[in-house]
Amino acid sequence: MSENQDRAVTIAPHAIALTIAGSDPSGGAGLQADLKAFQQNGVYGMSVVTLITVQNTLGVDRVEVLSADLVNEQFDAVMTDIPPRAIKTGALGNASLIAEIAACLAGTPCPVVVDPVMISKHGVTLIDDAAIQAYREILIPQATLLTPNRFEAERLLDREIGTDLDDLLRAAEELRDLGPAMVLLKAGEFEGEQMHAFIDSAEILTISVARHETTQTHGAGCSLSATITSQLALAPPDQEMESTMRAAVEFGIAAVNHAIHFAPQYGRGSGPIESRMLHIGD
Ligand code: PLP
Repeated sequence: MSENQDRAVTIAPHAIALTIAGSDPSGGAGLQADLKAFQQNGVYGMSVVTLITVQNTLGVDRVEVLSADLVNEQFDAVMTDIPPRAIKTGALGNASLIAEIAACLAGTPCPVVVDPVMISKHGVTLIDDAAIQAYREILIPQATLLTPNRFEAERLLDREIGTDLDDLLRAAEELRDLGPAMVLLKAGEFEGEQMHAFIDSAEILTISVARHETTQTHGAGCSLSATITSQLALAPPDQEMESTMRAAVEFGIAAVNHAIHFAPQYGRGSGPIESRMLHIGD
């Protein structure tokens, strides 16, 4: 075997993932965070750009959504050339783009992780109101995994989620009733820890990790869904999906927790997690 062939085996050439997401020029969130997470997990990354933000760690100054046909052409270009093993979506801008992407994804055989990004960490809206309905009715029913945080879950369910565990688990079930195969609800602080609820067709489980008091969490949501997508891309295609997903989710939560813990201060505002620490252990 030549040296090049040998290397190709080590780097799992078929582990390919695609993100359909917005651009954050400061590199902390959006498609930049996704590509870093793919790379960090040993996965070949591709990106279809949906919108462009002007932002840094101090705030978002502008959001410009690309046209549906431009997004569609990017998608076709990569899908007909380098088919991915797993796909994730991030910020999708508006209802017509969500509908376009749902149509694009309808024929894909690979798992799709939908991260229903709605606002930036600075509170700037990254999608319009009609988009919530499009998510609910068109894209989410196609998702293999839906990964909302508490705010996004409340918008999708059109109700507040209480701070007790029972209501959290009920909300996870209601989200799964929207049609995705599985849901990871990132519930935020619960009894001093960072709480998540994961539900598949058979069971519901809670996963909590240590909470780090820090403002350096920009891109944590993107990096989590991208790390999960990476693990799906790495898994053998014939492996049972629900157990693969559970392992991917548990790995992703631990890896992002680690990357939050080791985030230095990038920039003068709410900085990003350290994507180079997206792994488990030292
Ligand atoms: N995508 C883009 C383009 C963004 O600008 C942001 C946040 O600013 C996000 C996604 C979501 O980031 P997070 O992972 O911090 O929720």
